[in-house]
Amino acid sequence: MDNPTLLARSLAAVWHPCTQMKRHEKLPLIPIVRGEGVWLYDADGRRYMDAVSSWWVNLFGHGAPSIKQAIKDQLDTLEHVMLAGFTHEPVVRLSERLAALTGLGHAFYGSDGASATEIALKMAAHYWKNHDRAEKHRYVYLEGSYHGETLGALAVTDVPVFRTAYAELIQPHFCAPSPDWRRAADGETAEDVALRAARGLEKLLAEHHGEIAALIVEPLVQGATGMAMYHPIYLQEARRLCDAHEVLLIADEIAVGFGRTGTLFACEQAGIRPDILCLSKGITGGFLPLAAVLVRDEIYAAFYDEDVTRGFLHSHSYTGNPLACAAANAVLDLFERGDVITANRAKATRWNVLFAPLKAHPRVRHFRQCGMIMAFDVADAGSGFALRFFEAALAHELLLRPIGNTIYVMPPYTLTDTEAALLAERTLAALNAALETDAEIPDVPLA
Ligand SMILES: *Cc1c(COP(=O)(O)O)cnc(C)c1O
Repeated sequence: MDNPTLLARSLAAVWHPCTQMKRHEKLPLIPIVRGEGVWLYDADGRRYMDAVSSWWVNLFGHGAPSIKQAIKDQLDTLEHVMLAGFTHEPVVRLSERLAALTGLGHAFYGSDGASATEIALKMAAHYWKNHDRAEKHRYVYLEGSYHGETLGALAVTDVPVFRTAYAELIQPHFCAPSPDWRRAADGETAEDVALRAARGLEKLLAEHHGEIAALIVEPLVQGATGMAMYHPIYLQEARRLCDAHEVLLIADEIAVGFGRTGTLFACEQAGIRPDILCLSKGITGGFLPLAAVLVRDEIYAAFYDEDVTRGFLHSHSYTGNPLACAAANAVLDLFERGDVITANRAKATRWNVLFAPLKAHPRVRHFRQCGMIMAFDVADAGSGFALRFFEAALAHELLLRPIGNTIYVMPPYTLTDTEAALLAERTLAALNAALETDAEIPDVPLA
């Protein structure tokens, strides 16, 4: 393949996501031709370890054989049929399995994360309208939250780079304090920070619950703001406060669902059940776009009526696409067949040990881990650090995209110990290259 030509054609015809396109005058696009396991290969045969799982979607490596096969098999019988008025085996089976896993009895489908958020928000407000409480149509979101970038989702997202340019288009809602443990004052524990944030939420709900339909949260890890992690007690408090104030609880597990935090779903670690659960990203193992919104039976029942307009008249053309559902069923098979969660826990512990030299690096702050996500902040990184690190990482065969001064790894679960050691070693090398220092790394006992 003629690379320069492909890159020029891409720049001439493709508008790449989340990118100031002018940047590509200097930063070359990377033409990927093949993926296998945790590795991506470019047209020149160079390889890159996909240590961010291609924006957090890949769980079992590129080309995972059983997922690939499931899609191929499905392709032989039915590629797609509209889901209004019709049904098919893959969507029924997936819905039954998700209901059994979450205790949330009905599944509504969308195409990607943002569409799941839109569905959840609309459903929550419509639920109250069907209960003659139409004034309950605002939402509470957390500082630093991210729930997608369509206009409804953006209105409950608190990441300025995504939001600021569209400020005039966004409906006002209520922003509650973040339980991010990095906010701990001297002597405060992560639990203290979570409880303090919960008191802020309590005040807000006490004052405004009459107009609030739902609270939307990213359980345990606020991803896009920079892998902010928090104590599960916040979720218990949120559940209790939502019940006390007649507010629905929406858990956005688009990024953290399917084993990412050490349990199949992050909410399990708090022992709570949301009213509405949003899933996407890893749901198909990173093969095809799909989102599922799972709801409690009581919410479903509030829409069940002779009156058409009390129904949830929302749809996307590819709702419940059979190929995507077949991929999702193959992902659930993988969780069922092997004990992925237990194996992941052991892996997470080993990754933590391998990253000890980074933890001890003099410029590293707030090293944190939640299951299969590790992150840390870089002190005094200087301007343009994210880009410098991204390029340094690529030079070390790593695909890592920092968020500001936060470096995180979120690799496929299939990362081997050898690959994990390589990741740790090269992340350190890339960090030193980006900081242009050869910082003395203190000897750390590998406990
Ligand atoms: C990625 C993400 C979304 C949006 O998903 P898209 O598929 O990018 O639209 C929503 N919520 C969270 C927590 C996410 O990480």
